[in-house]
Amino acid sequence: MSARLVLVQGDITRQDVDAVVNAANSSLLGGGGVDGAIHRAGGPEILAACRALRASHYGRGLPTGQAVATTAGRLPARHVIHTVGPRWSATEDRSDLLASCYRESLRTAVELGARTVAFPAISTGIYGWPLDDGARIAVRTVRAEAAPGIEEIRFVVFDERAHEVFARALK
Ligand code: ADP
Repeated sequence: MSARLVLVQGDITRQDVDAVVNAANSSLLGGGGVDGAIHRAGGPEILAACRALRASHYGRGLPTGQAVATTAGRLPARHVIHTVGPRWSATEDRSDLLASCYRESLRTAVELGARTVAFPAISTGIYGWPLDDGARIAVRTVRAEAAPGIEEIRFVVFDERAHEVFARALK
């Protein structure tokens, strides 16, 4: 990995990057958290593109750990990369699926020719993943990828606590 890793506290919908990653759910039809914010700020074009995906390749939805790109509508970004994080489970280790979200999203970004990519802390909201573990998996996974052409990977976290946790994981 030769990209620089950057941490910012803020709103992922406001990032001026080539591709923004959405913590989507498998329906691709919107939800809360990051997903809701992206659809609200990006407008109906994103939802239309997601509906088209449901009508074609992803009739049963996007499987957990995979990623797919659409237009970014009215967002400053050019693409939204939707990925479905696993729900946290106390009885089953789903870390590989969470790592897969970061890996597949980065791969998609490379395919799109993106140079800058913004990630939220996937699964750490509604899906309940402990923040410190989620941050560790995020940082470790993107560091292990070659990601040719990617110059900047930006982690965008909402609050101060998440900022502290990610800062520690990046050290
Ligand atoms: P998931 O369902 O994968 O857990 P969420 O969207 O609920 O996804 O939350 C993922 C993380 O993103 C949480 O840490 C949450 O605090 C944070 N978050 C929520 N909204 C935004 C936003 N607009 N920009 C950046 N981060 C956000």
